[in-house]
Amino acid sequence: MKFLLGVLLAAGLLAAAPSARSQLVPGSVDMHWDEGADDCTAKPHPPIQVHPYNDRTYVLRENLCATFEAPFMYLLVGSHRALLIDTGDVADPGRMPLAQTVMGLLPGKGASKMPLIVVHTHGHLDHRAGDPQFEHLPDATVVPADLDHVRSYFHFTDWPNGVAQIDLGDRTVDVLPVPGHYPSHIAFYDRNTGLFFSGDFFLPGRLLIDNTAAAQASAKRAVNFVENRPITYVLGGHVEMNRAGETFPFGSTHHPDEHALPMTKADLLRLPAILDGFNGLYAEHDGFTIIHQPHELMALGLAAFLILVLAIMLVRWLVRRWRSIRRRRALAPA
Ligand SMILES: [Zn+2]
Ligand SMILES: [Zn+2]
Repeated sequence: MKFLLGVLLAAGLLAAAPSARSQLVPGSVDMHWDEGADDCTAKPHPPIQVHPYNDRTYVLRENLCATFEAPFMYLLVGSHRALLIDTGDVADPGRMPLAQTVMGLLPGKGASKMPLIVVHTHGHLDHRAGDPQFEHLPDATVVPADLDHVRSYFHFTDWPNGVAQIDLGDRTVDVLPVPGHYPSHIAFYDRNTGLFFSGDFFLPGRLLIDNTAAAQASAKRAVNFVENRPITYVLGGHVEMNRAGETFPFGSTHHPDEHALPMTKADLLRLPAILDGFNGLYAEHDGFTIIHQPHELMALGLAAFLILVLAIMLVRWLVRRWRSIRRRRALAPA
């Protein structure tokens, strides 16, 4: 009887308690991004666009016509501090008013402006070129993206294991090491909204891999992390394919019918299986293109070298043949 009462009580409590997901602060993913153009001079394009997910969470994107990378950046506002994840691909504030846009979104005015922490998913230039725009601001801290700074700032003592936290005031963001695309790559989980920011580690497009074993281990670590947590959306650093799943040509400044930015927890849970079957060079698997960049560059270099050697051999053979024909003609009786 006691047991039955206990079970009924537990069931009652579960029914009464709101699910973890319903406690998340909701937001909108009805995003509309400028699709860029093949000829960016034909009409003006806004250098940067802002999508308010909610009134404390913003998705920012640099325009395809400002940089074909068109990276996404994320601004999370707490009660004491704000966090900017990535600073994009364009340094010049004249071309890309990133700091001005971000400061305009932060609460407060003048000296009472909310302090800002600038962090990066990883150290590729298309995610940190805008850093100098923040370095001179009085209340902004820019955390460099190299491994030494990432480890020491977030107090990772057993990299890439462990999870760090950033306290923004009534808003905690978890920091999870996910090397594989880049040695100091980190992902962020916002407990407030349930958004998981995956940078270039996981995005709708090309999964570029620098270290296969590290990427496979990171995929398993990320899955362990998200498995028992409410995840509303997984948001990456770029979108590189259309809605049919075809990747845009590398360097394209025009993304017609672009794939949506948000991916799901189910997508991320598939990542270990996608990476486990990877041959270490190039693969298309389950809607993703996986490329091992250093290996691909080596293979391309080798192919270029072989083509050069064959071309030299062909030219030498043609020269020898031409000379022998000339010699035979010279010796032939007139
Ligand atoms: Zn990258
Ligand atoms: Zn990138």
